[in-house]
Amino acid sequence: MKYELVIGLETHVELSTESKIFCSCGGHSASKEPNDCVCPACSGMPGMLPVMNKRVVELAVTAGLMLNCEISRYTTFDKKNYYYPDLPCAYQITQLNHPICTNGCVTLKTSEGERDIHIKQIHMEEDAGKLVHAGKASFVDFNRTSVPLIEIVTQPDFRSAEEVLVYLNKLKSMFRSGGISECEEGAMRCDVNISVRPEGSTEFGVRTEIKNMASFEAIEKAIKYEAQRHIDALEFETEELVQETRRFDDASGKTFAMRNKETEADYRYFPDANLMPIIIDDAWLEQIKAAKPVAVDEKADAYREAGISEKEIDMLIHNHKVSKLLDDVVTLGCNAKNAAGWILTDCAGVLRKQGKLLGDLEITAEELSTIIKMVDENKVNRASGRKILTAVLEEGVDPVAYCKENELDSQVDASTIETIMDRVISENAQAVEDYRNGKVKAKQAIFGACMRELKNTADTAVIKSLLDQKLDGK
Ligand code: ADP
Ligand code: MG
Ligand code: ZN
Repeated sequence: MKYELVIGLETHVELSTESKIFCSCGGHSASKEPNDCVCPACSGMPGMLPVMNKRVVELAVTAGLMLNCEISRYTTFDKKNYYYPDLPCAYQITQLNHPICTNGCVTLKTSEGERDIHIKQIHMEEDAGKLVHAGKASFVDFNRTSVPLIEIVTQPDFRSAEEVLVYLNKLKSMFRSGGISECEEGAMRCDVNISVRPEGSTEFGVRTEIKNMASFEAIEKAIKYEAQRHIDALEFETEELVQETRRFDDASGKTFAMRNKETEADYRYFPDANLMPIIIDDAWLEQIKAAKPVAVDEKADAYREAGISEKEIDMLIHNHKVSKLLDDVVTLGCNAKNAAGWILTDCAGVLRKQGKLLGDLEITAEELSTIIKMVDENKVNRASGRKILTAVLEEGVDPVAYCKENELDSQVDASTIETIMDRVISENAQAVEDYRNGKVKAKQAIFGACMRELKNTADTAVIKSLLDQKLDGK
């Protein structure tokens, strides 16, 4: 029999906020040593009260807007009670009854065509701490307790591992470009719910949940393993499938049962009376909407329309800082495709030589647009433009001043160019003859000699056409 795979995802994303969700300790990535970002509130001292971080609400709403969700105007927090050493209060503050976003949808482009994945809800919650195991003892690090998370819950709409990966990559680029999260390894963690059913069936099969998956590669492997385990169980009655929580072991590539699936009742959820309901009024929502960065897809489309290549679009979309630089340079009047080349080829080339990455690029939109315009307006040639760019990136010089000091302006008058060219031609009689006898490359050598004589400052297009006239009589 043929089986269909059914998958639903719960994805936890650590938000890029300055501080934690309910106290003023530094947020995700602020800590350097264990327990250096901890206060009485987030380490669960008795009597401490949570204070809501407004930025968390704004980022959660922004994520909801990106995923086409309905934004709840009334949203509340609940306590989810369980005991574990990395959870000092013995409850997690999360949202059960009134999550901040509901009923969203994202469209995926897969090798099979377009697929809609429905978002059941997005809720805000706090992260737990970390246990560090050392032999028979364990240490606890509370730096991560109360770091803000959003959890994005999909409907069971995925039908393959490929769709899951397309979705996760899409979330990642959206959230990066929107400043919601950098989504580095460990900052984006999934619970993967899987079941299988005979093809054509409309009922769902028994599902298992693989908890806390942080690597996309592992997710793909786990889905393939778990799907086969389900199929074998149904087909050959190798075992009885039960609804349970499992963990994936990377070394063996297998999943193992952890515990029977808890139900809601096991957690004794109740409203958190320490936190007031949050009301999102029209004015606040409009403010968040206005600040919402263009969704990634729209942005990619705009770049595509400007003639930027797919490879370049990919680099831009995954690098918020660089795509912002491009957008700003375009706002200052440069052509998008041309400017993308300056950033992704010329700037990237200088950085590579310095052993740096594109993300390390430090140049203002004003500096870059000044250089691009000097070249576009033929004030300097392309090679000089590159020279100025290198000086700006390496030494932080002012592009206009540097150009003047080094006499890079290609304002050599036509008669000077002609005089020099005539001299070069007479000094290179052999090359001229070779060229006339069909050795095409000889012309390039004469061109090079002219550029050298002119100290590379003249407009290459002017030299090319003058040389065409002289050698080809064009
Ligand atoms: P619970 O409250 O038990 O966690 P939810 O309804 O919140 O259940 O679902 C949790 C996740 O499991 C969701 O992402 C959902 O899409 C997914 N899911 C539910 N049923 C199935 C199923 N039969 N197969 C695969 N995934 C499922
Ligand atoms: Mg759930
Ligand atoms: Zn704290």
